[in-house]
Amino acid sequence: MAEKSTIEVSPELDSWMRETRRYLHMNPELSLQENNTSRLVSGHLNELGVKHRTGVGGDGRSLYIDAEQLKAAGITPGPTTGGTGILGTIEGRKAGKVLLIRADMDALPIDELNDVPYKSTKSGVMHACGHDAHTTILMGVAEMLNERRDQFDGTVKLMFQPAEEGPGGAVAMIHDKILDDPKVDAAIALHVSPLWRAGQIGVAPGFSSAASDRVQITVHGVGGHAARPHMSVDSTVVASQILLLLQTIVSREIDPFEQAVITFGALHAGSAPNVIPDSAVLQGTVRTYSPNVRDHIEKRVKEIAAGIGMAMRAEVDVAYLRGYPALHNDPAMSELVRAAAGDVLGPENVFERKPGMGGEDMAFIAQKVPTCMFNLGIANPEQGKIYAPHHPRFDIDEDAMATGVKVMVASALRYLNG
Ligand SMILES: [Zn+2]
Ligand SMILES: [Zn+2]
Repeated sequence: MAEKSTIEVSPELDSWMRETRRYLHMNPELSLQENNTSRLVSGHLNELGVKHRTGVGGDGRSLYIDAEQLKAAGITPGPTTGGTGILGTIEGRKAGKVLLIRADMDALPIDELNDVPYKSTKSGVMHACGHDAHTTILMGVAEMLNERRDQFDGTVKLMFQPAEEGPGGAVAMIHDKILDDPKVDAAIALHVSPLWRAGQIGVAPGFSSAASDRVQITVHGVGGHAARPHMSVDSTVVASQILLLLQTIVSREIDPFEQAVITFGALHAGSAPNVIPDSAVLQGTVRTYSPNVRDHIEKRVKEIAAGIGMAMRAEVDVAYLRGYPALHNDPAMSELVRAAAGDVLGPENVFERKPGMGGEDMAFIAQKVPTCMFNLGIANPEQGKIYAPHHPRFDIDEDAMATGVKVMVASALRYLNG
């Protein structure tokens, strides 16, 4: 068996990362408000002497859904204090390939239920998706790659992004040209996962997260007395027909070997048993992998809703909001990360992950350059660290951070020197 390579995280860096992650965990910031986190990252890069640009991505607000569409779906964008994205650059021995390494920095509107010394100090805001660890790990990677500048050719770009949890900060940073000058050739990122223990990782070659779209269908009928239906257009009956027919798209129109989910989690109409409501609203989510399947479902949702509306004398509005696209891991980059991780962790600690139907805005980067986003194991059942991201008891085994740094550094060196 091949010997593990010598990329080791020093005890000093390891304890700095634990302390830093705990600080970030105690001081979480919501999407588009990552000002303190961004200052901390910039300060650390300054200490390391790593060149970087701050305020990348303007106000951090993504442009992937336009304001009209948001309004149609009843979504009011949150406030922004703006400008939290950071792009660091580390140049190697000489010009060569360019690798982007990404971490997201934002927290979630969740009340933390963990009783730990580093519990969030902000009620209703929590690092429940592990982005505190992602940010810390990338600062650790910056330190180790900066020390190894004479061991690789090419350039490493360090992307610290705002607003992964909804607004799509990655898009704002792409608009701010982070993939250009020098042009990025490939990218890697990680996400913490309780599927594996600290010291282990999972890689899904191919699709690792789904396109996640949102649909709102508003049926405008004619309200009236429940006893005089002939004088009304009953919006609840129209909405029910739409809902049932939409549920035949996946079963009757999509290739069984493709993946798609259509779920309507909300159906609102009326408030009294003896009144026909004049409107009804359906809200749902559509998850897909293939762009063709995504296009087909969007088209058919609109056609079916409009067609039934016309057949039943109601007016129907459809707001179809395209969220993050599916994230497709490049097979060659996935193989590279697997091989690099095998070197530093031992091949027995590198697992193949099944595709998931969650959403992830790293997908926008993966659409532009070959990407591998892998999962970093953070579970430790003995410490009660078993919860999935977005759970109010989510927490990580901090040993995992050194694992994340080693895999990213090893992958970067292998890519840039390969
Ligand atoms: Zn999340
Ligand atoms: Zn996340």
